Amino acid sequence: MKLYEHTAAELSRLLQAKEVSSVDVVHSFLERIGLFDPHLKAFITPTPLMALDTAAEVDNRRMRKEKMHPLAGVPVAVKDNISTRDLRTTCASRVLENYVPPYDATVIGNLRNAGMPLLGKTNMDEFAMGSSTENSAFFPTRNPWDLSRVPGGSSGGSAVAVSTAMAPLALGSDTGGSIRQPASFCGVTGLRPTYGRVSRYGLIAFASSLDQIGTLTLTALDCAFLMNLIAGYDPLDSTSLPQDEPDYTDCTDPEVKGLRVGVIKQNVSAGFDREVTDAVLKAASLLEKNRAEVTEVSLPLTDYGLGAYYLIAPSEASSNLGRYDGVRYGYSAEGSSVEAMFSRTRGEGFGSEVKRRIMIGTYALSAGYYDAYYLQAMKVRTLIRHDYEAVFKNFDLLIGASSPTPAFKIGEKTADPLQMYLSDVCNITDSLAGVPSLSVPAGIHSSGLPMGMQLTASPLREKLLLKVASFFEQERDPLSLRPQLELSEGGSP
Ligand code: GLN
Repeated sequence: MKLYEHTAAELSRLLQAKEVSSVDVVHSFLERIGLFDPHLKAFITPTPLMALDTAAEVDNRRMRKEKMHPLAGVPVAVKDNISTRDLRTTCASRVLENYVPPYDATVIGNLRNAGMPLLGKTNMDEFAMGSSTENSAFFPTRNPWDLSRVPGGSSGGSAVAVSTAMAPLALGSDTGGSIRQPASFCGVTGLRPTYGRVSRYGLIAFASSLDQIGTLTLTALDCAFLMNLIAGYDPLDSTSLPQDEPDYTDCTDPEVKGLRVGVIKQNVSAGFDREVTDAVLKAASLLEKNRAEVTEVSLPLTDYGLGAYYLIAPSEASSNLGRYDGVRYGYSAEGSSVEAMFSRTRGEGFGSEVKRRIMIGTYALSAGYYDAYYLQAMKVRTLIRHDYEAVFKNFDLLIGASSPTPAFKIGEKTADPLQMYLSDVCNITDSLAGVPSLSVPAGIHSSGLPMGMQLTASPLREKLLLKVASFFEQERDPLSLRPQLELSEGGSP
């Protein structure tokens, strides 16, 4: 087995046993990046030299018998909206194309302290606004299962990096599905943790009441390793939860007996691709065969979730993005007056989806419309949260599709923003409720594309989600879920 084929947990074991060096591991992934990334475009800024430096340092420390973190020497890729000191962080936007943060996000500090080599910063929709990675100001990322399709978004680069073994682990961010939907389109495991469980300090803000950093990995255990590192209280993030974090790696006993499981009616809807809903229902019956109590459950407010989200997220975005004025940092255009300079900076710096959100949000927050739109959306959000609280009195776990369809074609939805927004319909209510939500592979569609299912639990029960994911991994080995990409060096796939 080649080094890049291993899970992060296995690499951790091999490194600790000194059977391999981190430099060898990093070289193995860099070779993959060299071979695949010219075609897939998962990385905005690859950082091979930085990765090799960290790897060499970790190897030396290990030789000196220093006590090391289990993930020391295991490389990682990071979405390009997570601030990295002295390394540009673009948010896939022209506005931040040359922006070099003066500080590290808390999660980056975690990775650095653990000695994890950074392979690079991954592509995304501009400011994380989108569901396909086509809104990147630089280039779209391609789905490795079918190059004519999108990888999902906005964490598309991170999902592709993990699914093609260009990185064993990746960080992403999820505001309304941006980890879970690309995970499902690429056949990997993507966790959106409970709101507040992982520090967002240094995550470039899109919609602050919804933004959450999370993981993209091949297996539940790999997710657990990464969560052990990044979860926890951070005084630098005022929304961070003060609770102690459990040992997430204690998730490999996949006992589902007695688990009360609700199949969310709205997320196995008749309007969805039939094979996707069948895969979810098959997974539910597998749980039942293993003596979980499975019933259907309705979350009727799901129908209003999308509308509420597409008012709340743009409203918060319009406020958060006010800081890109050409004065403080980032792109700055010339102008004959200050106003002209602001307007040209923003006009030239932002792409069309970002501008659309700023306009919707500014409108929804303006005097006279605030009550009718923003406030109304916030009330719907509260009702949605109450719905979840009520449901979790009777259920431990909710299950449904991660997306109504497998990956769609590049260009298929770009002309119709509403169609694009609808692709998040399964993910958004979990985000509005602030609950942990995990997308795991659910099988392969007859088109050859992966499908995902979404597992949801009440706040802080990430470990339960990972246990159930481990249960499904017994049925379907995640290592077998790799896209077949036959590449000749420098040639086309
Ligand atoms: N696709 C959704 C949007 O465009 C969610 C994005 C995200 O989670 N960052 O807003």
